[in-house]
Amino acid sequence: MALTKNIRCLDAVALISSYLDGGLGWRERRRLEHHLAGCPACTAYLDQLRVTVASTSTLTPEDVPSDVLDGLLDVFEKFHRDQD
Ligand SMILES: [Zn+2]
Repeated sequence: MALTKNIRCLDAVALISSYLDGGLGWRERRRLEHHLAGCPACTAYLDQLRVTVASTSTLTPEDVPSDVLDGLLDVFEKFHRDQD
């Protein structure tokens, strides 16, 4: 399916922390942004991380609570099940 032709959601999620930190090279950033453009689930994840990071000065993207991550993985699964 079209959504997986570039990077997968799990790859995107792994890149998003570095993306927020400004730690991605332009090539990875473009691939991630391309994925985000076609993936509402990862876009929602990025938005959530931005809010989380902005709301505290000490929390880093790596500190996202596991229940939040679990909830997002549910969203990913449902999203892709619907797509298939
Ligand atoms: Zn995705």
